[in-house]
Amino acid sequence: ATPTALLVGTGRGSQLGIIIRGPQVLEQTRTVDTIVLDKTGTITTGKMVVTGVEATIGTSTEQLVRFAAAAEEGSEHPIGRAIVAHSEAQGFDRVSVEAFQGHPGHGVQAVVDGHLVIVGQPAWLSDSWSVPTPADLRPAIEEAESAGQTVMAVSWDGEFYGIIAVGDTVKPSSADAIAQFVALGLRPVLLTGDNAGSAYAVARQVSISEVHASSTPKDKLALIRSLQEAGRVVAMVGDGVNDAAALAAADLGVAMGTGTDSAIAASDITIVSGNLTGVADAIRLSRRTLGTIK
Ligand code: ADP
Ligand code: MG
Repeated sequence: ATPTALLVGTGRGSQLGIIIRGPQVLEQTRTVDTIVLDKTGTITTGKMVVTGVEATIGTSTEQLVRFAAAAEEGSEHPIGRAIVAHSEAQGFDRVSVEAFQGHPGHGVQAVVDGHLVIVGQPAWLSDSWSVPTPADLRPAIEEAESAGQTVMAVSWDGEFYGIIAVGDTVKPSSADAIAQFVALGLRPVLLTGDNAGSAYAVARQVSISEVHASSTPKDKLALIRSLQEAGRVVAMVGDGVNDAAALAAADLGVAMGTGTDSAIAASDITIVSGNLTGVADAIRLSRRTLGTIK
């Protein structure tokens, strides 16, 4: 290869807001045929807002939100930030919190005012904490999820106390970017830790037909490996701690510049703006740059 052309390619990349780890990355970028995309914070803005709160009888929504917000204080996940912001916006007092622990792809736990509070996926509370969702709340959860929202269950001391729904919106550039990937010959795949209802609602908006939902960080890694075993050359695009292992395993890892440090550290390319059109720019740039060499 001609080092000068590669350096020109990487230099042009930084003008486009594409940070490329090294010239060798251009070759990986040129050969990808499959692009796996995280949902929250990658296809969507990741700027989540609370859209609904429902507490069980005998519990106030104020207590539910205050406890959930305290448990989420230590979380850098958009869901955690949305719940904390909602509590602040309501003017609720802060509660003392200790022993925070995040569970990427599932939820959080912390000791709030002496109570062990768990906030996360309803299925995770049921399977890992033996706190099932009461049957009378299921219709409300299903309705919110099929409208594209994400519903968190809230429990403390082993009891179910209510649900908090959050939602975010698809980035204005995402549908166009995905159409560009298809035009460049790539097969787009949506991969998310979120529920199937929300995953399909987003997939419909950006015209992706292949969807993998409720995927843990391990499942995300396993999907990348299985695509590679099937002979695909895989780009993975993500922003979260939950994406880091998949980003590192992919033939090309791409982080959103708006994402977490661990996603950026695991990736070959960072798109500063966080717009997926930057990934299409990177692929075109690599093809053009290496085209001048061969
Ligand atoms: P995505 O793959 O779409 O970026 P994540 O893997 O980060 O989603 O999260 C998957 C699911 O885990 C979320 O939809 C949510 O149900 C739950 N979850 C993750 N982080 C948190 C958190 N801080 N608080 C509550 N629930 C969370
Ligand atoms: Mg994400």
